[in-house]
Amino acid sequence: MRKILVVGAGQSGLQLALGLQSHGYEVTLMSNRTADEVRTGRVMSTQVMFHTALQHERDLRLNFWESQAPRIEGLGVSVTGPESRRAVDWVGMFEGGYAQSVDQRVKMAGWLETFTQRGGQLVIHGAAVSDLDYFSRAYDLVLVSAGKGELVSMFARDAARSPYREPQRALAVAYVHGLGPRPEHPDFDAVRCNLVPGVGELFVMPTLTLSGRADILFWEGVPGGPVDAFRGIRDPEEHLALTLALMERYTPWEHARASEVELTDAGGTLSGRYAPTVRQPIGRLPGGGLVLGVADVVVTNDPITGQGSNSASKCAASYLASILEHGEKEFDEAWMRQTFDRYWDTARHVTKWTNAMLDVPPDHVLKLIGSGGAYQPVADRFANGFDDPSDFENFFYEPEKTEAYLAAVAAR
Ligand SMILES: Cc1cc2nc3c(=O)[nH]c(=O)nc-3n(C[C@H](O)[C@H](O)[C@H](O)COP(=O)(O)OP(=O)(O)OC[C@H]3O[C@@H](n4cnc5c(N)ncnc54)[C@H](O)[C@@H]3O)c2cc1C
Repeated sequence: MRKILVVGAGQSGLQLALGLQSHGYEVTLMSNRTADEVRTGRVMSTQVMFHTALQHERDLRLNFWESQAPRIEGLGVSVTGPESRRAVDWVGMFEGGYAQSVDQRVKMAGWLETFTQRGGQLVIHGAAVSDLDYFSRAYDLVLVSAGKGELVSMFARDAARSPYREPQRALAVAYVHGLGPRPEHPDFDAVRCNLVPGVGELFVMPTLTLSGRADILFWEGVPGGPVDAFRGIRDPEEHLALTLALMERYTPWEHARASEVELTDAGGTLSGRYAPTVRQPIGRLPGGGLVLGVADVVVTNDPITGQGSNSASKCAASYLASILEHGEKEFDEAWMRQTFDRYWDTARHVTKWTNAMLDVPPDHVLKLIGSGGAYQPVADRFANGFDDPSDFENFFYEPEKTEAYLAAVAAR
């Protein structure tokens, strides 16, 4: 039986470990936290996942919370105009299936317990490079799925694929109960992207957290701007008060729904920043062993497009297929590179689009986003791009393609 070590128990590591386990592999999972520590800790993400990524979980029968989590049927866009009035307001509907967000504290803790209940070997240990050096000799394959932690230092930055060296947004998340219904469409849930030109973005989305249904208020602030104001705030209540004050100033229509909100729990806030980075997929250990990086370890994008968990799920599914197809053959350097390249074929679209969304939007993109209000097909297509960002190649990046697409929609 092939022995595989998975280091890091997040979306990608757990999905891969549970998938390999279900195919009879002998899997050891190394996590720096127990299930209880994850469950009682701080929120880690907003983790909205779209249809394709959710389907990978369903394929492995890991969709334990699907019936409880709110169904997110579409994605809305608002743009703040002069005097904080709403200049753009539309919602596109998902065609392939709904999206969902399950608090990673709930999901990862539950999956960790499932892994051990199914006989998997769980080692609670924050792995260092020296540990991996030792373990790489005892396993057929070592997968590093430790997110943005220190182990990324083993994987060299790929400068050609990483246009940014610095964080492009300051992130501030608050999980709340008590948000009022959305007057624009009270009958269904959607993610709402509120774009505040020059200032940042406010994302509002429903989730399933430890205490049931909740909503997430997520500010992304342009560094040095007025929303980049959470650094140093330790008190969760102060964090929420600042979140609401910024909403009142820049997105008053969202603030109007928030008069009754309170934090879900003491761990319900998060702030920080990181630079989007693509890395070389293979880590070389001091003793000569090789390890393969997974998901955020090798491709980290800013959460402005809500893609990281989706990419982690897609990466885990792609790596699982590559491992199964490889059978009993050695997991050598050539296989590792091919395995990453197969994933990068999907991930490159995510990185290109996400980096574009961090930039100041060119005129043709402003026109495209504005057109979502006049033409429902434009709103729908933009929303569905969150599930399959490769479609943006057809109508988003080049002004000529955007013009041709909008002309075709108008002619219909
Ligand atoms: C504010 C914010 C909002 C986001 N919103 C979304 C969204 O709406 N949709 C979306 O798709 N994505 C979103 N993301 C991104 C998404 O959460 C991540 O990209 C995704 O969780 C990455 O999965 P992963 O498996 O690569 O790593 P992670 O989920 O980070 O898991 C890594 C795990 O490894 C553990 N670990 C770290 N170091 C070690 C070590 N040395 N030894 C052992 N274990 C270790 C960590 O504790 C963690 O459990 C968001 C991220 C942030 C920060």
